[in-house]
Amino acid sequence: MKKTTTVVAKDTTNPYESMLARFDVAAKIIGLDEETHNVLKVPSKIVTVNLPVYMDDGSTRIFEGYRIIHSNILGPSKGGIRYSMMVDQDEVKALAAWMTWKCAIADIPYGGAKGGITCDPAKMSVGELERLTRAYTVAMSDVFGENQDIPAPDMNTGPREMAWIVDTYSKIKRAYIPGVVTGKPLHLGGSLGRTEATGRGVMIAAMEAMKKLKMDPKKTKAAVQGFGNVGSYAAHYFEAQGIRVVAISDVTGAYYNPKGIDINKAIAHAEANGRQLTGLKGAEKITNEQLLELNVDLLAPCAMENQITAKNVNNIKAKLIVEGANGPTTSGADEVLQKKGIVVIPDILANGGGVTVSYFEWVQNRNGYYWPLEEVVQKADASMKKAFKNCWDASTKYKVSMRIGAYIFAMNKVANAIKSRGHF
Ligand code: GLU
Repeated sequence: MKKTTTVVAKDTTNPYESMLARFDVAAKIIGLDEETHNVLKVPSKIVTVNLPVYMDDGSTRIFEGYRIIHSNILGPSKGGIRYSMMVDQDEVKALAAWMTWKCAIADIPYGGAKGGITCDPAKMSVGELERLTRAYTVAMSDVFGENQDIPAPDMNTGPREMAWIVDTYSKIKRAYIPGVVTGKPLHLGGSLGRTEATGRGVMIAAMEAMKKLKMDPKKTKAAVQGFGNVGSYAAHYFEAQGIRVVAISDVTGAYYNPKGIDINKAIAHAEANGRQLTGLKGAEKITNEQLLELNVDLLAPCAMENQITAKNVNNIKAKLIVEGANGPTTSGADEVLQKKGIVVIPDILANGGGVTVSYFEWVQNRNGYYWPLEEVVQKADASMKKAFKNCWDASTKYKVSMRIGAYIFAMNKVANAIKSRGHF
C-alpha cells in the first residue's frame, strides 16, 4: 500500500464545511496564495427563489429553489439539479464547489454549479413536479444558458425533468436550445451513454485503483450503497468485470447474499417494482448501516452525503472505497480511513463520468452531429483513466491521500486560470 502523509481536517457533517476542510488542507500543501484562496472559498453567485406552485388539491404551495454558481473561471458553470427535502443552501453550495473540482479533474471546459429544490418528489404528482420544474426554469432563465450555466440531472431528477427544462427555456428564448441542459432524453438531443455514464465511470475508477492495489476483480467482493442511476449501473458494471457484488441497497434497506447478487435480476426487479428493491429474492435483508460495515474488499457508497462518518469509520472493513455519491465521507472520517490504510477514490474523481458525458452531449448539441455509443464510451473511459492518473500522480508527488491529491490537481488548474484571467 502507498505511503501517505496524514492530513488533519476538521470533522463535520455540514457538507460545505466538509468541502472547505479538504480545500484548506490542499491549499496549505500547495501554498495557495491568500487572494486566490479567498476567491475560491466562496461561491461566485447564489440565487434563491420562492416558487408558488398550484397543487392538485387546489392549494398553492411555495417551494424554495436554489442555483449556486461556485466558479465559471474555466468555462460555463455545470452541475445538476436535485429534488430532496435535504436541500438547503449549504448543501447546494458544497455540491456546486465539488462540481468545480470535478470538472477540472475531468478536464472539461466548465466551472461548477448546482441547483436544488426543497421538496419531496415521492409525495408529488407528475403534474405538480412539471409545474414546479417549469416555474424553477422560468425563475432561472437568466441564470441558465448554453454559454453561461448548464444544468443536468441529480438526485431525484432525470431525463423527464430535463425535457421540461429545455422546453420551458427554449420557449422563453424563442429558439430551440438543446445545449442549455444535459441528461435530456435521446429524442430531444440527449447523448447515447449519458444515463449509464456515472456508474460506468465509477467502475473504471475502481478498476484503475484495483490495478494499483493489485486486487484481482475475480477475487473481489463488493458492496454498493444506493441503487439509483449511479449505484445500479456501478453494480452492473462491477459484475461485468467479474467482481462479486454481495450487497446492494436503496431507501427500503440493504440486501445481502455472500454468494453474490444477480444485478441484472435486481435491476429488472426494481424496474417492475416502482424503482424499489423491496421484496428482492435470494438475499438477506440488512440495514444500510450494516452494508457499509460488511467484510468486503470494495465499498461503493453511491447514495448520498455523510454515510461514512466519525461514528462508523472504525467499523469499515473494505480495502478500497470508491465514491459514486457526492460527499459520502466526512472530512474527519477521511483521516481515520487513511490511518487504517483504506484507499478512497474521492467523489470529485470517481463520479466524474456523468459530467464528462454531459460535456459530450453539449458538444454534440452545439455541432448538431451525434456520435455512436462506442465513441462516447471509448472517449469517456479514456477520460476517466487520464483523470485517475492525474490524481494518483498528485497524491504520490505530495504524499497525500487520493482525495487531497485530487483537490490539489483541481485547485492548481483553477488557480492558474484565475491568475491568468485576473479580475477587474
Ligand atoms: N449531477 C451529476 C454530478 O453530480 C452530473 C452533473 C452534470 O452532468 O452536469 O456530477
